Amino acid sequence: METDNIDAKTFFRKGLGVTYDDFIILPGYIDFSIDDISLETNLTKYLKIKRPFVSSPMDTVTESRMAISLALLGGIGIIHYNNSIPEQVEEISKVKRFENGFITEPLVLGPENTVNDVYEIKKSYGFSGIPVTENGKLNSKLIGIVTRRDVSFEEDLTKKLSDVMTKGVVAGEAGITLVEGNKILKESKKGKLPIVDKDGNLVSLMSRNDLLKNKDFPNASKNRQKQLIAGASISTRDEDRERLAELVKVGVDVIVIDSSQGNSIYQINLIKYIKSKYPDIQVVGGNVVTAKQCKSLIDAGVDSLRVGMGSGSICITQETLAVGRAQGTAVYNCAKFAREYANIPIIADGGIANVGHITKAIAVGASAVMMGSLLAGTREAPGEYYYKDGIHLKKYRGMASPEAMEKGGAKRYYADTERCTFPQGVSGAVVDKGSILQFVPYLRQGLTHSLQSIGCKTIPDLHKALEDGRLNFEERSHSAQREGSVHSLQAFTDPTFGMVRSSISG
Ligand code: IMP
Repeated sequence: METDNIDAKTFFRKGLGVTYDDFIILPGYIDFSIDDISLETNLTKYLKIKRPFVSSPMDTVTESRMAISLALLGGIGIIHYNNSIPEQVEEISKVKRFENGFITEPLVLGPENTVNDVYEIKKSYGFSGIPVTENGKLNSKLIGIVTRRDVSFEEDLTKKLSDVMTKGVVAGEAGITLVEGNKILKESKKGKLPIVDKDGNLVSLMSRNDLLKNKDFPNASKNRQKQLIAGASISTRDEDRERLAELVKVGVDVIVIDSSQGNSIYQINLIKYIKSKYPDIQVVGGNVVTAKQCKSLIDAGVDSLRVGMGSGSICITQETLAVGRAQGTAVYNCAKFAREYANIPIIADGGIANVGHITKAIAVGASAVMMGSLLAGTREAPGEYYYKDGIHLKKYRGMASPEAMEKGGAKRYYADTERCTFPQGVSGAVVDKGSILQFVPYLRQGLTHSLQSIGCKTIPDLHKALEDGRLNFEERSHSAQREGSVHSLQAFTDPTFGMVRSSISG
């Protein structure tokens, strides 16, 4: 039978740059249920994750809160480096210390604090039991707890906590399981269970309210020591070798070398240095968009490649430098080369604006997608929400925007020593997307349905179909793109966390 199919090799013809919206994947044959689909993938040569989702190392996207939540959901967060070494190290440490159900950074007060301090905390965080330690900090001897009952009838707001707190607190010993802690909370009928080490120092807190909310995360990305995994970005500059050493000390799993044009002598030297000094650390090189760039970094020893130049939502590189590549073409060519040359996975970085883009990036060869704007509006991203024209927003900025560069982000763009900086990014805002605990499962579900429609059960199956020419693509005219989105309506409700609406409004 004569077919109307076009394989990837024919579709991605030389000389034309295309991106996600320019093509559509033709449906395949379904002979399995949605439950048979696995989204497990290789983030790097040796590191597998259950979901192909990675958060960008940007200061409005990934700090420990994002990295913890994304790892719980089976992805991984890459902590940005637009901060001091101790700050970045502390963010990685927080991920490593995280234990589901235990608050490892609780609010703590000291005996010299006053009733008024408790009321101040109440204003920001609501009322709950606050542990009191000798020096008012974590890792100091637990001497009491102050609860609503201790202060609600207290008229003298200057009274010290040592005079009002409950002493002789029921505490759990470090190392207890969630189930054991829950049992103690139930029996003692308390709302909070401080966890102490063998010397009585407070190390964390369990909360009955949180416990009720606690879910199991069977797909969590963990290492052999059962800690959540996390990545950190560093620059190619020599002084970041000290940063690297400190990150390795606290157990970073993946190092992402952050550079907008990765094919440089600086990056090649750094890859060789990391691979010889820390052979267990997985190194993601980049960014790259051509096979030639991939070869340089693979020869230097990378375990994965980050692909994208100029495709990010906040990025102006293609306009200002006239260098880069359309993202669909970049991902296809780099993935093809990296797979055939050394079986190295690639991460499609930038330009992901909806679930369909995730499928398309993976269908043209990516093993995972890195997202900035899509995650920046979630509760777990750094920063506060604000209202503008009645819309709930969060700030999102390029790491080479004037604002971020002022704080140190220019390291990625060879621009931090120049007297006149040359921005390659903008600052803006994204719409509130709620918590990634709801948003990422939505992305996962979307990707799963896509795989079923294409007729592939796994990401490696999809890549095999791409290679064999069984996966078929077609270009979309402008009117086809319009037809493929919501059209001809006066108004509609967007059930996709605002992604359809934002693609229509551009
Ligand atoms: P997005 O997911 O489309 O928002 O793109 C995020 C990606 O844009 C990041 O992972 C970086 O690769 C890239 N990026 C971050 N900051 C800048 C910038 O200031 N200029 C250009 N690209 C940037």
